[in-house]
Amino acid sequence: MPSLLEEVKRLEPRIIEIRRTIHQKPELAYHETATGALVARELRALGIEVKTRVGGTGVVGVLRTGKKGRVVALRADMDALPLQENVDVEFRSKRKGVMHACGHDTHVAMLLGAAMLLVKHRRDLSGDVKFLFQPAEEEGGRGGAKPMIEAGAMEDPHVDNVFGLHISADFPSGSFGVRGGPFMARPDSLLIRVIGRGGHGAAPHKTVDPVYVAAQVTIALQGVSSRMVNPIKPFVISICSIHGGTKDNIIPDEVVLEGTMRTLDSGTRDKAIRDIRQAVTSTCSAYGARCEIEFKKDPYPVTYNDERSAERVMKVLKGIRGTRTRVMDQRLGAEDVSRFLRKAPGVFYYLGTNNPAKGCAAPNHSSRFKVDEDVLKYGSVSLAAVTLEFSR
Ligand SMILES: [Zn+2]
Ligand SMILES: [Zn+2]
Repeated sequence: MPSLLEEVKRLEPRIIEIRRTIHQKPELAYHETATGALVARELRALGIEVKTRVGGTGVVGVLRTGKKGRVVALRADMDALPLQENVDVEFRSKRKGVMHACGHDTHVAMLLGAAMLLVKHRRDLSGDVKFLFQPAEEEGGRGGAKPMIEAGAMEDPHVDNVFGLHISADFPSGSFGVRGGPFMARPDSLLIRVIGRGGHGAAPHKTVDPVYVAAQVTIALQGVSSRMVNPIKPFVISICSIHGGTKDNIIPDEVVLEGTMRTLDSGTRDKAIRDIRQAVTSTCSAYGARCEIEFKKDPYPVTYNDERSAERVMKVLKGIRGTRTRVMDQRLGAEDVSRFLRKAPGVFYYLGTNNPAKGCAAPNHSSRFKVDEDVLKYGSVSLAAVTLEFSR
């Protein structure tokens, strides 16, 4: 470990330079062509075998060791967000309305840094190392992990363990967060169509008013979370969009509600779906309205960190001088790294970048999200160190 920290010092300016290059030219989901090309170029320069256009704009690198030992895969996502950057740095986004506000630019740079370190440690590895640069993490159900897996990213060579990290303004700069077991949520999207019978706003008694019923449905759903689902189990439901109507004096025929539901176990999820159907259907029928309820197919699974692997990762991270490691709480956010973790056991962990003294305090997905670049080296060292540990 001391040697990795020593070695990364020389690489740090390059890691930061790569991050800034990507930051200036952010690309939205499934449009990561320039980022993918940069990744491919850097990997090839290191003598790593490269496959491009894997599941869209994904890139897979394989560091061959010529040995038949354990294969470790490391994953980084590459997409940016549709957001106008509001941070005053010289390398700010040059693309109007597009910004790396979730730090995926740093994920790419840190993983390339890890590749630079691991190439030097090729002799210490027992088998090959895979580098998975995926498109479109921010796309919900259309995330890039699935098409990459379908394109064979986890095979040939078959991956034994997979790891990834996310940078976050929720934690102090230079601190790692790890947790074993179910760690992040399964996000189910739902759409509810409340179907009434429109008419004049002055004569609601001659209509079935779907605006009023939609309001009752929104409230009833919070009753599902507070009164029907076991309060010990993490569960949240949020209606985030309500659409209906065209004018102040017309009661419309229907209103559409859309929302997200988050759970960490299938028992809670199944019960919640039954409860939601019952609460919505009976609320609508109480006022003479009908409803249609749709849950989108194939959401990201729960992000599950293998317990024993998490303990080993924690030990490795604790050995990185200058950082701190803590056990994280469960989160109801979601990540499609979960799809890779379904294919091979592993761990997804966090690296903090919150440093108010450097103006790095705004949360991920904020137009003011600013990364403390001094932590990037720790990210690279952690990925390389974890790989060396699990390659044994
Ligand atoms: Zn994000
Ligand atoms: Zn993210």
